[in-house]
Amino acid sequence: MEKIHELYEGKAKKLYSTPDPRLVIVSYKDDATAFNGLKKGTIVGKGVINNKMSNLLMQRLEKMGVPTHFVEELNDRETLVKKVSIVPLEVIVRNVSAGSFAKHYGVAEGIVFSKPTIEFSYKNDALEDPLLNEEHAVALKLATEEEITLIKKYALQVNEILKAFWDECGVTLVDFKLEFGRLYDGTIVLADEISPDTSRLWDSKTGEKLDKDRFRRDLGGVEEAYAEIMKRLQERI
Ligand code: ADP
Ligand code: UDP
Repeated sequence: MEKIHELYEGKAKKLYSTPDPRLVIVSYKDDATAFNGLKKGTIVGKGVINNKMSNLLMQRLEKMGVPTHFVEELNDRETLVKKVSIVPLEVIVRNVSAGSFAKHYGVAEGIVFSKPTIEFSYKNDALEDPLLNEEHAVALKLATEEEITLIKKYALQVNEILKAFWDECGVTLVDFKLEFGRLYDGTIVLADEISPDTSRLWDSKTGEKLDKDRFRRDLGGVEEAYAEIMKRLQERI
């Protein structure tokens, strides 16, 4: 399947049309941004790692009953996926306090929750992705109540599967962001990516951060952390 023309260039990926209107090609870049695009940089090799990692994890999820957009990895940076209409919600699941949760509620990072939390942000760069609740999402017609129920079910299933997998790799799955979309017939599937750009992954023993926080917080060793997390995944998958 070949690329026809560029449909969209985002902060981390590009989307291309294909001869089949139901399929698109996603191409992963090395560009990194943080703080709603205010901080920009490059993480050398990130696109290759995120492409491969996202595909391996989505295939595992698919096997365990979570429908995804994944079709076929085409090369190091490009993957054929089912075209969806994105539900404009960032679905965030947390197992441990960190990031905006710790900041909003004035708590330390690293508090382990007795059960996972789910929250939604309105995916809208101009509004800086504001937090919203389910009723707000329905009122704004971003998704129906039925879709939100299904999205929450899938998000918790993804959490259980990935938490167990990362645990085997000696990694704590702290939190992550998912995006869902609708296929032509309205079926909800998991879309976008699952990678160290969209997840917090801490070494289970040392607590070392193996994700994009190294870039966001200028911690150094960014490329090394991406390579390390990919190595651990490939040893286990
Ligand atoms: P952003 O748009 O936030 O800058 P990216 O650079 O990751 O993010 O761009 C990828 C875009 O493609 C995102 O807007 C995402 O919602 C969208 N997307 C992800 N998967 C699919 C898909 N299967 N079909 C259509 N759009 C998708
Ligand atoms: N996240 C993401 N995209 C966003 C916002 C958050 O992928 O636009 C991910 C982020 O990498 C982390 C989780 O969602 O794994 C929770 O992020 P948080 O709300 O703590 O926000 P942040 O600290 O990134 O501002």
